Amino acid sequence: MKLRHAFLAAVIAVGACATTDTPADDGMFAGAPLSSVSLLENIRVLASDEFEGRAPGTNGERLTVEYLERAFAAAGLEPGVTLPDGTRSWRQEAVLSAATLLNTPTLTIAGADGSRPYVYGEHFTAWTRRLQENVDVSNAELVFVGYGINAPELGWNDYEGVDVRGKIVVILINDPDFDTGDDRGFGGRAMTYYGRWTYKFEEAGRQGAAGAIIVHQTAPASYPWPVIGSRVAGPRFDIVRADRGASRAGFEGWMQEAVARETFQRAGVDFDRLRAQAQTRGFRAVDLGSLTGSIALQTRLEQTRTSNVVGVLPGRSRPNETVIYSAHWDHLGRCAAIDGDDICNGALDNATGTAALIELARAFSANGRPERSVAFIALTAEEQGLLGALYYQQNPIFNPRDTVAAINMDGINNMGRTRDIEVVGFGKSEMDDLITRAAQAQGRRVEPDSSPEAGYFYRSDHLHFAQLGIPVLYTSNGIDLVEGGVERGSALNAAYVANDYHKPSDEVTDAWDMSGGVEDLQLLYTVGRELADNSSWPRWHENAEFRGARVASGRE
Ligand SMILES: [Zn+2]
Repeated sequence: MKLRHAFLAAVIAVGACATTDTPADDGMFAGAPLSSVSLLENIRVLASDEFEGRAPGTNGERLTVEYLERAFAAAGLEPGVTLPDGTRSWRQEAVLSAATLLNTPTLTIAGADGSRPYVYGEHFTAWTRRLQENVDVSNAELVFVGYGINAPELGWNDYEGVDVRGKIVVILINDPDFDTGDDRGFGGRAMTYYGRWTYKFEEAGRQGAAGAIIVHQTAPASYPWPVIGSRVAGPRFDIVRADRGASRAGFEGWMQEAVARETFQRAGVDFDRLRAQAQTRGFRAVDLGSLTGSIALQTRLEQTRTSNVVGVLPGRSRPNETVIYSAHWDHLGRCAAIDGDDICNGALDNATGTAALIELARAFSANGRPERSVAFIALTAEEQGLLGALYYQQNPIFNPRDTVAAINMDGINNMGRTRDIEVVGFGKSEMDDLITRAAQAQGRRVEPDSSPEAGYFYRSDHLHFAQLGIPVLYTSNGIDLVEGGVERGSALNAAYVANDYHKPSDEVTDAWDMSGGVEDLQLLYTVGRELADNSSWPRWHENAEFRGARVASGRE
């Protein structure tokens, strides 16, 4: 209780010049904003079994969107979307394609020593991004293309001199300097966008490959196989692309490291040696002997409508300038059952961030409208590849040039107070300075990205805001717990990744302690409030990969 009152005092102090706007209260969203009590209450609802894991296009979406609409309205926000007929709506509706695999495909790798069938889910996964009911790849040659990177600005092209049209490319995850840490243009151990699986599949498509398979390795992927292998049920979503996916490889997927090793051995090459070669400049793609791969995918195609939920608190004097808070509301829905539980509730990922949006909206409203507008965007289909954010990127509601910054939340600290907070992608923009100052005022410290090699900066929705040139802030919970220090904090983090991440057990438990999460939200509030009340434009640093987009938008 002591903590809670400390934060109340902080919110009230910030809002000393507040107007008397009081949010309409429908009973559900009563209580002080940015308190761990109301935060946890909203998390419990969003992560309840009733919401069925909040998969896009399901009844779980309907319940989630309606809940957010009520919460945003109760917080005093206005609907953020203007429809073509001029009416206002909370929903930015996107049409997604939903592709459901009808068969259980076998990946067969054939060579002089015969054919070996691999088991879907256990040894490999596969899907297609083409809006095509049948994809049949038969006896396509296998080519190892190293990290599958074509980066002209770095003079690096793993596809140099090889024609992969009609072939299956086998690709390593992460980027060439992950192992050694020597910066070869890919940020040393830090992952760059080139290290992301999303990029690798895009590039394989541009190269005309018939199939693209990434070799799963736990360290460079930063998550264990079950994170991939358990994702075999339910539809896969994409935004509906103009070319209906024709520019993508026929199929995309992952294979277990053991399958890759066996395959390389059959081809008479050494996996580790080729992997090491792929890390050097001048690496050339290698044909995997006479091995060929075959797979047939039968897919049911449907379109589904899903929505980003957008609320806005219009600015008093410069409503055209906007500070964005975002968090993805979706999670995996029904998933592979563990101990009879097949609902992936996504309590931490990302009922916490979604509930935080509600709390922040309530705090902004309670403390009076700022000079600039503040938008609260609950994004859809993050788990399917940041699709709600991608849709927003292609259909921005607030002019990117006039968007001051975007603060994204994906997972709010549930393990108690910390002395630190982590800034993912630290070093990219002046947003670092704002949060550092705010943290110091709390007597806490900002830590740079603790695992830049995992590429978390590229793994959540703010990526698509950054690609529009908008400076972004994305934090992760600190690990230096006031009770238990770094040792306990790291252990709890590691346990979550190993046991609960993307599993049915990502649920609210009695062990949850939102006191630290509330402190983190107070920081994000302070940063956003400062930007919303002043007239500054935070800038990207010189070397940041998204600075060019800001310049192109005319802002810098
Ligand atoms: Zn998430």
